[in-house]
Amino acid sequence: MRPYISSMINFHIHSTWSDGLYTPEIIVREAIKKKMEKIAITDHYETKKVNSVPKKYLKMYVEDLKALRRKYGDKIDIYIGIEVDFSPRTNIDNLPNFEEFDLVLFEYVQDSLWDGYPLWMLLDKRKEIDAFVILAHNDLNKNFGDANIDAFLRVLESDRIGVELNTSMNYTKLGTYYYRLAEDIFKEMKNYKIPISVGSDMHEDIERVDDVKDALSFIQELHLEDNLKLFLKEVSENEG
Ligand SMILES: [Zn+2]
Repeated sequence: MRPYISSMINFHIHSTWSDGLYTPEIIVREAIKKKMEKIAITDHYETKKVNSVPKKYLKMYVEDLKALRRKYGDKIDIYIGIEVDFSPRTNIDNLPNFEEFDLVLFEYVQDSLWDGYPLWMLLDKRKEIDAFVILAHNDLNKNFGDANIDAFLRVLESDRIGVELNTSMNYTKLGTYYYRLAEDIFKEMKNYKIPISVGSDMHEDIERVDDVKDALSFIQELHLEDNLKLFLKEVSENEG
């Protein structure tokens, strides 16, 4: 019997375009070898934090990924993504509309530890962005745990903002993933049309190209399959 949800997806991967170790093509070939169905390359957009894709090279980056799509598109679905450091390290006033992108990950939203800008600022920016918007590896429990959860989730739903389950050890506390620490928030999410994405945040270890199993187990444990399906649908419709 086929598992209810495919484990062969990963929507958070870095390449040599930013601070990853492998070229997009090596990543795509490895993903095909592992029989993956869908991956997104999501390099860092111009930020002072790490090596990143400058605004003036965005078009080249997109063209590079589109060429891979033409070359390998019969074997795997390749999505074009980018990750924005939502903090003063990025020139937020000059953000492009990312119209050729399928998804834009926003990291550190409302995260004071990383000088992240608040969610209301993202709601403002979101109107100008032509791609699907996702909160990446957010410590929801810390950043939104004190808020009115239903109000928070209603905002995400009405503004079509998705939430990512990230399986990188950078986004854990004492070995527990941020999303598991926010179980109470995620339990509520199945009552809302909020897309849920999964990603491993792979940089140097190519074996982590399909390291999303814990996130998928979590989705099954909490019966969030419809939220994942909604994400897959939204991101496909956005395909640039
Ligand atoms: Zn990342």
